[in-house]
Formats: sequence, C-alpha cells, structure tokens
Amino acid sequence: MAGVALGIGLGFSLRHINMSAKDVQYLTFPGELLMRVLQMLVLPLIISSVIAGLSSLDKKAFGKIGLKAFSYYMVTTFIAAFTGISLAVLMQPGKSSRTASVSSSDKAEAVQTVDSVLDKHDSLKFGGSLFQKDGTLAGPGTTDGVNILGLLFFSVAFGLILSCMGNELKPLRDFFDCLNKAIMRLVNIVIWYSPVGLFFLLAGQILKVTDSGEIGRGVAMYTLTVATGLLIHSLFTLPLIYFIVTRKNPFKFMLSLLQPLTTAFGTSSSSATLPITLYCMEENLNMDKQVTRFMLPIGATMNMDGAALYEAVAALFIAQINNMEFNLGQIMVLSLIVTVASTGAAGIPQAGMVSMILVLESAGLPTEDISLLMIVDWILDRLRTTTNVLGDCVGVSVVQHLHVHNELQM
Ligand code: ASP
Repeated sequence: MAGVALGIGLGFSLRHINMSAKDVQYLTFPGELLMRVLQMLVLPLIISSVIAGLSSLDKKAFGKIGLKAFSYYMVTTFIAAFTGISLAVLMQPGKSSRTASVSSSDKAEAVQTVDSVLDKHDSLKFGGSLFQKDGTLAGPGTTDGVNILGLLFFSVAFGLILSCMGNELKPLRDFFDCLNKAIMRLVNIVIWYSPVGLFFLLAGQILKVTDSGEIGRGVAMYTLTVATGLLIHSLFTLPLIYFIVTRKNPFKFMLSLLQPLTTAFGTSSSSATLPITLYCMEENLNMDKQVTRFMLPIGATMNMDGAALYEAVAALFIAQINNMEFNLGQIMVLSLIVTVASTGAAGIPQAGMVSMILVLESAGLPTEDISLLMIVDWILDRLRTTTNVLGDCVGVSVVQHLHVHNELQM
C-alpha cells in the first residue's frame, strides 16, 4: 500500500515538470519489469497448480467443488450487474448535458478508437492463441498474450486424467507438485520486489493521465457511479456473502488480502496478480489447495464481478447520453449480456472495455461512444480489477467452507 500511495504522490509531484513521453517510459520501467515478471510466472503457475491440484482430487469432490464454484460465480456476477444497473438508473450519469460530455474532438477520435478496440478484440481470449504467429511467446501488456482459457481447459483435463490413472503415474503427479513448489518460491521472491514495481507503475500512470479539467461532467458522473458501485460490491455485498456463509469477520479476511488487492490495483490485471493471489491464499491464509488451485486460475479468467458492474453502468450511461430509454425487459436482457461479456473478458488490462463492444452491439447502442469510456478507463480498470480479485478470494473461502461442512456432515 505504501508503494501505491508513494507512487501516486511522486506522480503528482512530477506532473508540473512536463516530462517527455520517453522520460515517463524510463520512469515506468521498474514497474513494467514487475508486470513482465508476473506474467512470465502465470503460464507455468497455471499449468503446475491446476494439474497438481486436480490430479490429487477425487472425481466426486471435483464435481461438488466445481458446481459450488460456478454457482458462486454466476450469483455474484449477477448481483454485481444488478448493482451497476440500479445505480445507473438512480444516479443517471448520462443525463448531464451531452454537449458537456462529448466534445467534437472526442467524436473525431471515436472512429479511430473503435477501430483500434476492434483490432484488439480479435486477439482477446476467444481468438488468442498461446503462441504468436512467429512461434514466440506473446509479450506482456499485449492483448495477444497467453490464451489462458485454452490453457486452463487443457490443464483441468490433464489433471483429471492423471487423477484417474492410479499409481503408475505417480512420478508425473509428483513432478507437477514439485514444479508448483518451485514456482511458488519464485513468487515469494517477486513479492518482495512488488512494492518497488507498484511505486513506479503508479507514478508513471499518474504522469500519463490527461488533465482532469478536460473530463466532461457526464464522464465524471459516470466514473463516480462505477466507483460507488464497486465500493458497494466490495465493502458490502461480498463481505455479507462471506459472513453469511462462514460466520467470520469479512474485514479481517480482506485485510489479510491487501497484497493481492494492491497488486491488482497496480497492474490492472487479474491474471498478472494470480501468482500473488495464490501465494497469499495458500501460504498466508492456509486455504485448501484443492480449492485454490482449481478456483483461483478459473476465477481470474472468468469471474469478474467488477467488470460486470462496470459494463452495466457503461451501457446505461451510453444509452442515457443518446436519450434512449430502456424498459424493464431490456434491462433484464442487459444484465444477462454483461454477465456473459464479463465472463468472456480475459484477466488483462482493459479487457472489460474491449468486451464493451459486444455489450453495446448486442444492446443496440452506438459503439463509437466507447471513446468516452476510454478517457477514464485507466482508473476504473484498476478499481474493477481489485473487485474482481476480491470476488475470486471470497469465492474460495465460501466454497471451501461449504465443501468442508458437507464432508463433515457425510
Ligand atoms: N482488467 C480486468 C482484470 O484483469 C478486466 C477488465 O478489464 O475488466 O480483471
């Protein structure tokens, strides 16, 4: 947290000296390094942790944990979407005058923006492949990175097969277990570096932000609405679910998650945060490895409460600035669309904004207005990623609690 706070402080204090883009790039370098190291760890970590976790799980337990996990994901994502919709209807962020929020230069940029966003979209999770066309591993920060969903699917299948194949394959199971232990050791070292990385990442980000004076009233209201929704979901809904199921103090639990939460805020990526989340949940909080290894990698890719909430508000905001009214039926459909779109977004920076294209198209809204969302996405992305990661962690403890409870009753 100190890294984040000091980084933001440094960023603001350097703003008045007008650093060139190159200088800002140099300043951000130690932060980029953290992003790259984390992303480097994601690939071996997912493979080893999912395979090791599932190969020691019996099939019945897998079914039960899987069912609970997916029910949790669906319910919380839906609640998040509902919170976003209710707030957007109540606060009406798009009803401030349209001229104030959309300048002509915004409009001129819009077409270009949509093109680049669509470009990105092709390489997102649905179409991305593990390796780039030239055979090298895709670099971090680029959207055509690792196809985590494909990797997860393979690892789950491979782990389950290993669990069915008796003693003969024990060496292979041990291999993945040892690989996982070694990677976790590496993660431990990276954790010591993370405050330094976060410090420079945040300082660089603050320097890159355009002046807040340029943001129109509508966009400011929209930002406030999303931030309020994320706060409600993170500080009320998720803690309440945690408390109802486990009967433990949710805020104490959240306090012990500060490391992954600040990393999520600093990196804007659930996937890049995954090594730290896994480490914290397994080593610091002693969560059941069978649950963490199954749920956290899947959660980082598919369970995105923050993204669902953000997409719901953003869609209604765009509808409001275009004077389009949504009736109850359309709002219900919208909540389903954002639930699906958030599940489809990868755990990488700004993925939620890119999948907004799908939401806008499905809801019949103008896609060029996405340029308005882009202005403030640097901060909303950080906030929603933090909520996404918190949702994943609460999910693990809820499912673990229910699982252990069930086992004891049987
Ligand atoms: N950046 C978010 C994440 O990694 C996804 C999003 O853009 O909503 O969780």
